[in-house]
Formats: sequence, structure tokens, C-alpha cells
Amino acid sequence: MYFASVGLLTTKRIPMKNTDPIIPHRQIHLVGGGIASLASAAYFIRDGHIPAANIHIYEELPVAGGSLDSSGSPEKGYVMRGGRMLNFSYLCTYDLFSFIPSLTDPSVMVLDEIKAFNEKIHTHSRARVVEAGKILDVSSMEFSNRDRLDLLELMAVSESHLGIKRVNEWFAPEFFETNFWFMWDTMFAFQRWHSAVEFKRYLHRFLHEFERINTLAGVDRTPYNQFDSLALPLINWLKAAGVHFEMGVKVTNIYFKDSGEQKVAARLHMLQNEEPLETNLAADDLVLVTIGSMTADSSMGSMHSAPELITDKRDGSWLLWEAIAKHSPEFGRPFVFDNRVDESKWESFTVTSKGHLFFQLMEEFSGNTAGTGGLVTFKDSNWLMSIVLAYQPHFIGQPDDVTVFWGYGLFPDREGNFVKKRMADCSGEEILTELIGLLRFDAVRDQILESANCIPCMLPYITSQFLTRAEGDRPQVVPAGSKNLAFIGQFAEVPDDVVFTVEYSVRTAQIAVYELLKLDKKPTEMYHGGHHPGVLFDAAETMFR
Ligand SMILES: Cc1cc2nc3c(=O)[nH]c(=O)nc-3n(C[C@H](O)[C@H](O)[C@H](O)COP(=O)(O)OP(=O)(O)OC[C@H]3O[C@@H](n4cnc5c(N)ncnc54)[C@H](O)[C@@H]3O)c2cc1C
Repeated sequence: MYFASVGLLTTKRIPMKNTDPIIPHRQIHLVGGGIASLASAAYFIRDGHIPAANIHIYEELPVAGGSLDSSGSPEKGYVMRGGRMLNFSYLCTYDLFSFIPSLTDPSVMVLDEIKAFNEKIHTHSRARVVEAGKILDVSSMEFSNRDRLDLLELMAVSESHLGIKRVNEWFAPEFFETNFWFMWDTMFAFQRWHSAVEFKRYLHRFLHEFERINTLAGVDRTPYNQFDSLALPLINWLKAAGVHFEMGVKVTNIYFKDSGEQKVAARLHMLQNEEPLETNLAADDLVLVTIGSMTADSSMGSMHSAPELITDKRDGSWLLWEAIAKHSPEFGRPFVFDNRVDESKWESFTVTSKGHLFFQLMEEFSGNTAGTGGLVTFKDSNWLMSIVLAYQPHFIGQPDDVTVFWGYGLFPDREGNFVKKRMADCSGEEILTELIGLLRFDAVRDQILESANCIPCMLPYITSQFLTRAEGDRPQVVPAGSKNLAFIGQFAEVPDDVVFTVEYSVRTAQIAVYELLKLDKKPTEMYHGGHHPGVLFDAAETMFR
């Protein structure tokens, strides 16, 4: 079913009309090197026919890819700050990767590679939720009639009616004890204090996943981690085309020279190696800024040390948004998202092991071979820990005798069940010890620990995009009156779509490019499960399961 709709993307090309004259000297400045900027560059080239050599990407880190990162080596340990689930309804993302050649086989496109991989490796979890070391049957959602009514009403009311309500201001306390909540909450990293508006959007946007929420059978995976499978092929394609990657460059402010009602970005202020730089913008130049970042100020610990929780904004993304937001109320309110670290932080970890012992034990325990299970959540874990064993190898060049898995805990300030410390204060060894306790693998604890390198990662802003927000807190992609500036990424407003997804960032890229270039082209249409009677029927049935 998925690939029928995805298949259309690879063949259908809409002829485009550019209502703006092509301006040969126009320069494009993209602040940030995450998927939002990379996708923008690709659409400027493919749809806007902008020469790649006129495009400049400024990234403060030494590598592009943003949150879609992965790094390390078998010797030092691999690290992924995040692991991503994709979905057939990511129509913008799948459009983008329908014209980017794969890294491992340039004769096929990344999208074809993803399709082929998912046809071979199906996700069908047999151990979605675990409690007291036992797999729970979570096929029932465990809704009460009140929960059902609350869900339906939430889906029906307007966003303005909800305003800045939190999820737990909408549902009864019992809702947060249902199987549904444990699965939904850990699949998407929702907390009960997050935005009811965003929760409502998720219910609509992933309605088609209701019926298989307990098996995760609707999840698409990439063959390798998302840096190797998504970011790197795109970076390579852009570099080969001639896009300039300005690495280690932090954009600190934008100077505006407005003309009447029109807001005009006129100069970029930057820092490279602490040296100030400036770039003046010509009248036709365009600037796209990724505002905010869920992985800003993330920090790594090690097998023997806990990561630091950084709250004094050392990275550039939030500071830049704060600086430019002063220029106009149309540019949004960054403080709504970057000033509530206690509501937005959690911690992930990546475990690199020599040998297959942990994987063998997990495969026996869960009934899933690596890559077919998806998230395993420990319901009784004080940290609300989940892990995912991806298909191996998960890194290009990963040796056969090395395995890598990823996990996270949504409550890093709580003491563990087995390790009597806050997760935030734990080393990688302590986090892995806690996991071993939750799985009741104590008999082989020392063997697992001896062969493993667990690297924790503290993410202060990881769910900042889910925090309660009011209209206007997020700026429009192209703010009212903006001549040459657009906002892209997770904190620009896109009606109906859901944040914490690659899809959202790619959609903002499409909107920004098409609007700023005045192309006669609309962003890829959004998939609405609610428009399909079959999806509605299955969802309704699941509500009573
Ligand atoms: C743990 C985790 C799990 C996830 N799970 C999923 C999932 O299952 N499914 C899914 O679809 N998505 C998932 N995501 C989300 C997805 O990865 C992100 O939404 C997406 O990568 C965001 O891309 P972006 O380009 O908008 O922003 P970012 O990736 O944050 O990139 C912004 C970049 O801009 C740079 N930058 C910002 N400001 C400046 C400046 N002033 N000067 C210079 N450089 C600057 C930053 O350094 C950064 O590299 C997950 C992410 C994480 C971290």
C-alpha cells in the first residue's frame, strides 16, 4: 500500500513555470546545515534552476547534517544522537530522495534503496512494551469510553480553541496509564505537559498508524543510520553540483534595511574561529534561516562519565533567532521554546559492542531479529527507557563482529530502578547496567559490560518543538512583508503538519523555495489518513480494541 503511493513520486514530474525572471547573479544564503537547508539547496537547484555555485550553506559545526548525525568508529564507539522512523506519508521527504543518488549504488536513488530495504526487512514488533522483564500483550489500547470521547473531541476542536493547553489538561489521569499512551508517547517522545495542539495534529497526521501502533508495522527504516543513508548522499550530491559548504561558521545576526512595509535582510554577521565576518546581500539575494535546533548544545558523556547539561546557549541557533526576533513580531518568539529546558530535555545513548552477545539475547527475548522489532519500551522503567536494535551493520564500514544499538530515557531526572542515581548523572556503564536490570540479563552482566562502549548524550532542547505554544510563537515560513527572508526547520509554522519529523523540515524547504522564487508550484500535497474511509474504519475499530 505504501509504495504504490511512493511509486508515483518517482515518475511524476510537474512542469514548472517561474514567474520571477531567473537572475543569474542571485546568491542564496542558507543558515544551518541540517536537512532543512540541504533540502532547500536541492530544491533551489532542481526546481528554481539556481546555479549550485550561487548557493552557500553556513554551518557552525564541522559537519553538515544537523540532527541527522551519526559518527564514531568501532574503536572509539559509534554515536547517534537520534534514530529515525520514516513513514510512507513523508511525501516531501520521499520526493526529495527520489532524485538523490544512493551512496552505496549511485545508479539507484535513495528512495528506491529505502523501498527495497523495507521490502526485505519488515518491522513487526513482538515486544513493543516490557514490564517486570516480561513482554506485555499491548494489542488492546485500553481506552475507557471517556478516553474515546476525549480523543474524538480533541480531533474535532480547533487549534485556537485549545490555545496553550497541555495534553494533561485535556485527558483524564487514567488515559496516561493506557497501553495507547505508553506506545504513542514513546514512539513520538510526547510528554503529558506538551502541547495539546501538537498532539491533536499527530492524531490526524498518523491516524493511519493507529491500527498497527503495537507492532510498528507502518514504520519505514533506512538501510543504515540516517546520516549515512540520508544526509551524506544529499551532501555529496550538493557538493558535486558545486554548492559551497562554509563549515565552522556561526551566523550571529542579520541586519535589516527595511523599505516601507517590506522587511529586507541586508547583511549577515558571522563568526569563524572567533573572527567576525560580514556578508552584504545584494537586492535579489535570498536568505533562509533554520531557527532553533532540537540538538543545540547536546553533549556526550562516555562509558565512565555522564554528559553535561548545557543551558547557557553555547550553540548559535537559539541566539540567532533571539537576535533577529527583536526586529519584528512576525519573526516569532524563541523564548517560548528555548527557555524551558526542564520540559524539553531527555537523554539518548548509543551502545557499540564487540561481538553479538547482547543482540543474541535480545533476539531470543523479543522474538525479533535485529531490524524487525523497532522500539522496545520498558513500562516500569523510572527513566521510561526504550531501545531499538537496528538492522546490522548500521554504519557503513561497521565490522561484522561489532554491533550497535540506540536507546533513550524520557525522564533523566529520576533515579533508576536498579542504579540508584538520576539518569542525567550516570555514565554509559551505569545506563547499560540499568538496561541489563530491566531485561533481567544479570547473569551475563559482566560479559555485556566488558565488551560494550555506551555513550550517553544529553539533549537539552530535544522536545522544545513540542512545548505549548500560541499562535504567532512560530513565524510563518515566509513572514508577512518579507522580501528575501524565510524561516525553515522545526520552528516555522506549517499548517497541519507535525514537528519532530524530517518531513516537516523538508516541507518548510519546499514552501520557502517556491514562495521566495514565486514559482508556479505547490509543496508536495500532505497525506491525510482521515480522507480515506479504510483508514477511518481501522482507526475506529482500534479505538475499541
Ligand atoms: C533523538 C532524535 C530522534 C528523532 N526521531 C525522528 C523520527 O523518528 N522520525 C523523524 O522523521 N524525525 C526524527 N527526528 C527529527 C529529525 O531528525 C529533525 O526534525 C530534523 O533532522 C531537523 O532538521 P533541521 O535541518 O530542521 O534542523 P537541525 O537538524 O537542528 O539542523 C540545524 C543546523 O543548523 C545549524 N545552525 C543553526 N543555527 C546556526 C547558526 N546561527 N549558524 C550556523 N549554524 C547554525 C545547527 O548547528 C544544525 O546543524 C529525531 C531527531 C532526534 C534528535
